[in-house]
Amino acid sequence: MRLPYHIISSSVISSVVYILTQSFILAITTFFSGILIDIDHFIDYFVNEKKIKFDIKDFFYKCDNCKLEKAILILHSYEIMFVFLLCLFVINVQIYKGIVIGFLSHFMIDVLWNLTKGYSPIQCYSFIFRSLQKFEYKKIFFNNFM
Ligand SMILES: [Zn+2]
Repeated sequence: MRLPYHIISSSVISSVVYILTQSFILAITTFFSGILIDIDHFIDYFVNEKKIKFDIKDFFYKCDNCKLEKAILILHSYEIMFVFLLCLFVINVQIYKGIVIGFLSHFMIDVLWNLTKGYSPIQCYSFIFRSLQKFEYKKIFFNNFM
């Protein structure tokens, strides 16, 4: 999903978190983590460009038009989300809880969004699957293995 939609969805989700908990720190970390998880796309962009490059126009063009060859997307994976959730049992800190709420809500919205576009949620969001495909974008998104 694109950035403006993530800003809107993070605003709604963090508002609900605030209404339910009255915790400003929980709400604000939910908001920012729900957006900043997409730093994954910058990492992939740097990997694809083979250097750290801050060309925002080129970045959005290549990401929005599937012009990247590799899709690593470390944070956008079931495996990492599972680890974040497990850590909730040992990390009892509001900031961490907000980060997990933001990450998880963003992740679920991305999965549903891409499901409506016909992408397999298992192929696209399993780190293990992506690694078996050598993180090749076309194999992950455009081959139907299911
Ligand atoms: Zn995302």
